[in-house]
Amino acid sequence: MTSGFPPVPHGTAAAAGLDPAGRTALVTGAGSGIGRACASALAEAGALVHVVDMDAAAAKSVAAAIGGRAHVVDLARAEAVGELPADIDILVNNAGLQHVAPLTEFPPDRFALMQRVMVQAPFLLIRRTLPYMCARGWGRVVNISSVHGLRASAFKAGYVTAKHGLEGLSKVTAVEGAPHGVTSNCVNPGYVRTPLVERQVEAQAAAHGIDAGQVVSEVLLGRSAVKRLIEPEEVAATVLWLCGPHTGYVTGASIPLDGGWTAA
Ligand code: NAD
Repeated sequence: MTSGFPPVPHGTAAAAGLDPAGRTALVTGAGSGIGRACASALAEAGALVHVVDMDAAAAKSVAAAIGGRAHVVDLARAEAVGELPADIDILVNNAGLQHVAPLTEFPPDRFALMQRVMVQAPFLLIRRTLPYMCARGWGRVVNISSVHGLRASAFKAGYVTAKHGLEGLSKVTAVEGAPHGVTSNCVNPGYVRTPLVERQVEAQAAAHGIDAGQVVSEVLLGRSAVKRLIEPEEVAATVLWLCGPHTGYVTGASIPLDGGWTAA
């Protein structure tokens, strides 16, 4: 019996949801933490990886370790995106930064910088790479959002605003990319064991007036049912899954890796 729906186009790249092997990936902020883990996982799966970071030493060392290509650019500069390759199958928008301060004391220039790096740069990179993906009938955009793309916390006006913006951008990309075999999704981790979080512990201690140990147990893990930080490799595994053969129908989604934070 037929369903009455038009048949799924078996055999097309879009329907097959090809593996990362033989694909070209670009990962921003790939010199450290989650970006480095994503770059390594994609390279291990057979992709050629463009390692993009403003930290020259980190970008070069990661690129050398995984057989990728280093690009040293500051993504806060809109022109920097024009210096990056456009022929990309897999784009991982990961570069980001944090600033912790009460809203009324939040420095406006820091707020603007966070929007440039975490919203404007992903927009410009998607705008630059989407035509190539669409022309090939296959593409994967993975945006490293955060539980703070779905929930707010005090003292994080710049970050929560940027991540909510990234969520909207990802959904529009999903809608426009779907007819061309391009998916776009957000991955939403809770607190990941990276230098960004290590720096934040001290800032949070000052903002909340408590010590570092209390910051981890009460502030960072306070709303997580799983009482540990998540590792960068666990985030990279989800990114890899989104680029693999079973996720052509997963698009416009936000995938919490938050230890149950948003379930409660
Ligand atoms: P990290 O500080 O370890 O690494 C971030 C990398 O981005 C660094 O190598 C840095 O040099 C690079 N970068 C920052 N600004 C840049 C710019 N203007 N141009 C080019 N490169 C730039 O941080 P991380 O924890 O791995 O975070 C990566 C992403 O994951 C961020 O978007 C962050 O918001 C998100 N995230 C992190 C956590 C966490 O707990 N660590 C949780 C949820 C989401």
